[in-house]
Amino acid sequence: MSGGRQRSGPQRRLAGELQLERWSDAPNRCALVYPSGYHVGMSSLGFQQIWRSILATDGWTPLRAFNDDDEPSERPFAYELNRAMPEVEAIALSVAYELELAGVITMLERLGLPPLRRERQPDHPIVIAGGPLTFSNPAPLLPFVDVLICGEGEGLIKEVLQRIEGEDKASLSALLSGLSGVVVATERAPVLLPVAKADDVLLPAHSAIVAESTELRKMFLIEPERGCSRQCTYCVMRRSTNGGMRPVPAQAVLDAIPQGVERVGLVGAAVTDHREITDLVNALADRDFSIGISSLRADRLKRPLLEALFRGGYRTVTVALDGASPRLRRVVRRKTEDQHIERVAREAKSVGFMKMKIYMVLGLPTEHDEDLENLAHELIELSKILPIDVGLSPLVPKRNTPLYCAPFIGVKESDRRLKLLRRLLKGRVNVRPVSSRWSWVESVLARGGLAVGEAVLEAHRRGGDYAAYKAAFKAVGYLPDGSVGSDHAPMGVDGGVAYGLPGAAEALAQTTELKVLRKR
Ligand code: SF4
Repeated sequence: MSGGRQRSGPQRRLAGELQLERWSDAPNRCALVYPSGYHVGMSSLGFQQIWRSILATDGWTPLRAFNDDDEPSERPFAYELNRAMPEVEAIALSVAYELELAGVITMLERLGLPPLRRERQPDHPIVIAGGPLTFSNPAPLLPFVDVLICGEGEGLIKEVLQRIEGEDKASLSALLSGLSGVVVATERAPVLLPVAKADDVLLPAHSAIVAESTELRKMFLIEPERGCSRQCTYCVMRRSTNGGMRPVPAQAVLDAIPQGVERVGLVGAAVTDHREITDLVNALADRDFSIGISSLRADRLKRPLLEALFRGGYRTVTVALDGASPRLRRVVRRKTEDQHIERVAREAKSVGFMKMKIYMVLGLPTEHDEDLENLAHELIELSKILPIDVGLSPLVPKRNTPLYCAPFIGVKESDRRLKLLRRLLKGRVNVRPVSSRWSWVESVLARGGLAVGEAVLEAHRRGGDYAAYKAAFKAVGYLPDGSVGSDHAPMGVDGGVAYGLPGAAEALAQTTELKVLRKR
């Protein structure tokens, strides 16, 4: 092929998009930046929802940018313009989880900005950040941004852009005062990082663009419910964080699916808790959609739902067990018993499913080797029914959960438990562990404050590998054995169980989950 006709990586991805909303340019442009690659960013319904909100804001237009290394220039590619990102009036970053902080720094550099806010000039664009990370601990983001939108941001981004339009950065605090969920960054850590809740009229969130080059290839994503009414003590999406599950009627979900779509993904923290889920999946299968679904709870996976999913093209049943033994699952209020998962395996096999994937958290407080022996036994029994893949990750205690102050078990101990489990499983189950080292890095960011954020910049400048993070975090008191430095975010919603952080004992006294731990 001649060089002139060759498409760049972003142009190939652009050619695979189905635009469901009419984009138009406006006087003010906001770079909507995802700190990971296109294939991850375009699978994020939240990112697409913010794109739609900016588009609906008078005088503003969104320009998407992603962190891909196959782009034709150093400056990020602006997908709406099919060329490098021009100068913009604002930058909005959507950050899903802790390890994307390095991508935030990279993208600010690629946009020509000093990553640290204090090194930027008054005429640099305002940098706003939001996204799923802000439900938990966005404190390490603060040195890099001007404004944080914490929690559900689709309503707030509009309000923020309208208020800052044409204004001076120096007056941000006055401009944005009174907006619950919005934090104007300063050199001091805020005591409270609020979590905003979007107006229900903005639900259901759904795709604005269907993309081919994503994890969820050509899938129209829609959110039949938001939040979760359960209480698992390690989870940020639990009821206490944002008021529980908000379901959308099945008919409203069906009505929102546009022409030209072949695949539909139902996205949400607890989709199978939706009362109409079986009817909804059957209605989608009746219309010949191939179906994806983000969160299957074993106790809700009854035969009619398994049959409906099978009709929608499902062949692998995926569930989270999240606790190596029934005792541990009760400790963390995960309402999944061994008999639930055994029933699901048997019924899934009889319906025609080929495989079962199980997600498991290791290293919950009070976990012992006997719990791992129990897990190995259970997985081997399940493997006699269906082939089993098990995804294992160490507990990363999160802010805004009762387990915030639980220890990270440490890199060596995590590796020891993984090795033990592999030995106990005797090759009968396919084991897919996440890296203990990078889980530790995530755990530091899940706990840290502003100084930990700046340590990420240091690690980034030293090459961004594990050794660079280890050295940078050591300087602020965090070690791979799980030792915690003095720079950490406040307790947040639900406090934390006392495992040594200042203030934890007081929070613990008010935490109902403690009673569960004490009863063991
Ligand atoms: S782990 Fe799942 S079921 Fe439990 S609170 Fe979180 S979203 Fe709900």
